[in-house]
Amino acid sequence: MKQSKNGVWVSWNENISYNYKSLYKISSEEELQEVVKKSKKIRIFGNKQSSSNIASGTETLIDIKEYNKILSYNDSEQTITVQSGIILGDLIEAVEAKGWCIPCLPDINTITIGGALATGTHGTSGKLLSEYITKCNLILADGSVKVVTEKDDLIDAVRVSLGVLGVFSEITFKCEPIYTLHVKEGPEDDSVWLPKIKERLQKHDFLRILWLPHTDKGYVITGDKIDPNTEVTEDLGPKYLKHRRTASKILYKYSHVFPWITAIANKLLYRGFFSSTKEHKGSLYQATVTKSRGSTLELAEWTIGLDVFPTVFEELKAEINKWSNKSFIHIPMDVRFVYKDKTWLSYAYSKDTVTMGCVSRNAATADTYEAFKSIEKIFLKYGGKPHWAKRFIAKDEALSKVYTKWEDFKFLRRELDPTNKFLNPYLAEIFNEKTTN
Ligand SMILES: Cc1cc2nc3c(=O)[nH]c(=O)nc-3n(C[C@H](O)[C@H](O)[C@H](O)COP(=O)(O)OP(=O)(O)OC[C@H]3O[C@@H](n4cnc5c(N)ncnc54)[C@H](O)[C@@H]3O)c2cc1C
Repeated sequence: MKQSKNGVWVSWNENISYNYKSLYKISSEEELQEVVKKSKKIRIFGNKQSSSNIASGTETLIDIKEYNKILSYNDSEQTITVQSGIILGDLIEAVEAKGWCIPCLPDINTITIGGALATGTHGTSGKLLSEYITKCNLILADGSVKVVTEKDDLIDAVRVSLGVLGVFSEITFKCEPIYTLHVKEGPEDDSVWLPKIKERLQKHDFLRILWLPHTDKGYVITGDKIDPNTEVTEDLGPKYLKHRRTASKILYKYSHVFPWITAIANKLLYRGFFSSTKEHKGSLYQATVTKSRGSTLELAEWTIGLDVFPTVFEELKAEINKWSNKSFIHIPMDVRFVYKDKTWLSYAYSKDTVTMGCVSRNAATADTYEAFKSIEKIFLKYGGKPHWAKRFIAKDEALSKVYTKWEDFKFLRRELDPTNKFLNPYLAEIFNEKTTN
């Protein structure tokens, strides 16, 4: 195992950095056990793409990206077992090569499976990625391996556990037969798409709305399962659409100094990049997941029950359209749908849920981005939950009000990690525990 000493850990968008004493690159479960066992304080990191401060900040760190093998397939059960440092894109390519899919994918393929599961990563029109686990090995604070299967009660706590109950090592996913989606995209007025959400969720196999703040429009993406041989005349819109992110970066360059610029920039971006329609077909992965990004960004995301969403949306829209509060929001706010589950720290615990993203295209000035504060205030008021990997300021008290199983999770965490080995300062605040790094 490789070890480096006394370095600096920096997150992908350079917004978080920490000094560390020891950093280990592990490539086997045994090495993972050994380092966890001997360390006093430890965090594990994957591709460092989280906006929240959850992946570092302890004297010892483990880089899990070289622990990335596909271990086995079970053809009759359509399962695949992998090491938790595997990159999502590599996992999906292996799954597709078998003629299978994982039927709900996030819009990013560079993250590790361990990072994705720990933080409740999700796509749309399906369940959290964690819900497709049938079995996993968890390395506990004492270095022992705990095998948890979908039949064990513990699985409801483990599926989304921020790496504070233990470290995922081997993970088995249940897959489904691959399918082809016929995808249609185009703009709609808010007064049209908002009332149609439930009807569209019934009608389509995939639904995602890129809401365009300060334009009164949403860009609606639907997908329907079709026979792979069905002919679809591909229309990907004008060639210049691929420059959207670069154009956004330029238009928003001074929006931290003059936030109102955002409202004008959004109208221009709508006209240039969201006013045409598109039509195409492909697998869920090929047709809907972004494969490359030109620049970094900073993210927040909040989730709320499907029934309450229209109320929250109207209040949010009124709030951010007030020129007085500087809460102008960059394009787009990603609206997606996650179906209910039983996972304690899941956004969709016991109810169907809408998730709403909030992006700052300028990561370096994210601290001055008032929109993050306004969206948090409104979503919390209605019982919304923050995405674990993204930016929010709510701590133990606020979180205990929105998570039914919060106290059960805290109790279990203390039982499995009595010395708070897996808590960095940020997580210690989240769980209201005293700790040093
Ligand atoms: C451009 C972009 C797009 C995104 N799109 C989506 C999206 O569509 N949907 C969505 O839900 N999220 C999305 N995210 C959030 C992303 O999925 C999470 O930030 C994810 O955790 C990143 O994975 P990572 O490998 O970078 O993990 P890291 O940021 O390195 O780690 C995240 C957390 O996981 C823990 N961890 C890592 N490995 C393990 C392990 N083996 N066992 C236990 N804990 C572990 C770390 O300690 C840390 O707490 C997006 C983020 C970005 C930057």
